[in-house]
Amino acid sequence: MSLFTAVEMAPRDPILGLNEQFNADTNPSKVNLGVGVYFDDNGKLPLLQCVQAAEKTMMDKPTARGYLPIDGIAAYDAAVKALVFGADSDVVKSGRVATVQAIGGTGGLKIGADFLKKISPNATVLISDPSWENHRALFTNAGFTVDTYPYFDQSANGGLGGINFDGMLAKLNGAAEGTIVLLHACCHNPTGYDITAAQWDQVIAVVKARKLTAFLDMAYQGFGYGIAEDGAVIAKFVAAELNIFVSTSFSKSFSLYGERVGALSVVGSSKEETDRVLSQLKIAIRTNYSNPPTHGGAIVAAVLNNPELRAQWEQELGEMRVRIKAMRQKLVDGLKAAGVTKDMSFITTQIGMFSYSGLSKDQMVRLRSEFGVYGTDTGRMCVAALNSKNIDYVCQAIAKVV
Ligand code: PMP
Repeated sequence: MSLFTAVEMAPRDPILGLNEQFNADTNPSKVNLGVGVYFDDNGKLPLLQCVQAAEKTMMDKPTARGYLPIDGIAAYDAAVKALVFGADSDVVKSGRVATVQAIGGTGGLKIGADFLKKISPNATVLISDPSWENHRALFTNAGFTVDTYPYFDQSANGGLGGINFDGMLAKLNGAAEGTIVLLHACCHNPTGYDITAAQWDQVIAVVKARKLTAFLDMAYQGFGYGIAEDGAVIAKFVAAELNIFVSTSFSKSFSLYGERVGALSVVGSSKEETDRVLSQLKIAIRTNYSNPPTHGGAIVAAVLNNPELRAQWEQELGEMRVRIKAMRQKLVDGLKAAGVTKDMSFITTQIGMFSYSGLSKDQMVRLRSEFGVYGTDTGRMCVAALNSKNIDYVCQAIAKVV
């Protein structure tokens, strides 16, 4: 009898499990469209020029690694505020945004969840159906009951799939006061479908009328239509004078996955209130991991706060965005050329790194076993992993299973 006799084997993370399966696959043509990572046209994980330049400057003048403040590097937090809310926005200038550096976007969500559990212990959390796998687990682990609001409907658009916006709005309208609603600010993961600006206005009206708490997960700012364009939804919530939560991730937009750079921002009603909120966010950080690591935040702060590096970053991020869009078009054209008769042009109306392809679990399993093309069982494919060398093979493979 050991302390761990009753410990059950936890299920494997579905996406990381897929990665392991991919790595073990001996098919020389294998393509990994499972994990949500951007690869360049050579199939390589990019190391951005702006990041290399910032690191070079840092290495030329090495600094000691003391503890950071609990809320992270001040210049980093200021840069995140400016990026997410606008440097000249009233909400930032009047001190109504509390921003803390976090361990990736996941860390931002976790700190927000822990703080919310203190102030709204009995609230239910609503996440989209479907959502990023970790949303449910993370808020459940923080002690919340997690439910879903309708989002994707495969039967929409004559079976091609789309957003069930009426269902989403109806669920929010029926939610109890204080319900926490987790929204994907842009580039919805896993579906690739975002609601329109006019639909956001309707969501905001319901959030306000029903006194819900909006938590916006912004893991892909700049991958949709542009940095400012993707951030516009945050300004809409601020204009509606809502107390919102925003988690930020730089994993994708800086290709700094392993550095774990992210943030949490909370909008208060006054500076005095926001200062109190910040003090509580610091408690949540202190009791989780004390304070954040130095390197990733220093890189992002150096890039965002230097006009030349910032311009370089915007260009590099723009190139990633444009390449993904080109791959979407190539996928649509390639599937048609490979003999797929179904109209697949919905792929170009989707946005961000992912595409819900509409393929069934059986078809996804066949893609893996017969062709070494790896996507998730739900039909999600990472279009940011397609490139000019693998696109034809992927199109041929899909054509053979549909
Ligand atoms: N939210 C969403 C919607 C995501 O897709 C991801 C990353 N896959 C995250 C949060 C977490 O980002 P990070 O890796 O920076 O923790």
